[in-house]
Amino acid sequence: MGCRAQDVVAALRAAADTVAEHRVELTDLDRPIGDADHGENLNRGFTALVASLDGGAPETPGAVLKLAATTLISKVGGAAGPLYGTAFLRAATAVGQASELNSAAVVTALRAGLDGVVARGKAEVGDATMVDALAPAVEAAQAATSDGIAAVLAAAADAADAGADSTIPLVARKGRASYLGQRSAGHLDPGARSTALLLRTFAASAGV
Ligand code: ADP
Ligand code: MG
Ligand code: MG
Repeated sequence: MGCRAQDVVAALRAAADTVAEHRVELTDLDRPIGDADHGENLNRGFTALVASLDGGAPETPGAVLKLAATTLISKVGGAAGPLYGTAFLRAATAVGQASELNSAAVVTALRAGLDGVVARGKAEVGDATMVDALAPAVEAAQAATSDGIAAVLAAAADAADAGADSTIPLVARKGRASYLGQRSAGHLDPGARSTALLLRTFAASAGV
């Protein structure tokens, strides 16, 4: 079964719940290596997104993703707002006007999102950012394409969890954490953690 607009809406509403539940955790991760606002930033954005969806959701998956993009860009702020916003915007463009997405389209959307984050933030794998969660997630998703949407998202979530954990020993080379130099090592990157949480939520919403 494909992914329709209402499924994307449900996934984003679930994501808002996850962000609210993990708001303090994400902000605490951002305290020693950043400015202690990542959870608040995302929560502000996803709360605004839910309010917008409550007013009536768009009718295609791409239009829902675009609404998420514009809302997150305008409400999240900091580094993460433009980065997540660009990811959703590229994903929206990648899926176009389709009324239903198959697993290949979901993989294409994920890859477009990664490409958007990289284009915007110029981070590579190993720089201790959300790219360390998202890049392996896209590769795992691609490998699972023929297994269906739920399997694609579950594979992405598993890879993102491992990718987020991989940031712990790393010295950050992008974002605020990079200002700390060597002292940034030994910490889980908050954006990598939030990426992993979002992908896990999308997988759960797809029925895994
Ligand atoms: P800010 O650092 O502006 O306060 P947030 O705390 O909301 O923004 O988000 C910080 C997260 O953004 C980091 O943990 C990291 O994952 C991500 N990030 C920062 N800069 C970049 C970048 N250039 N490329 C990819 N991700 C980045
Ligand atoms: Mg911050
Ligand atoms: Mg900030």
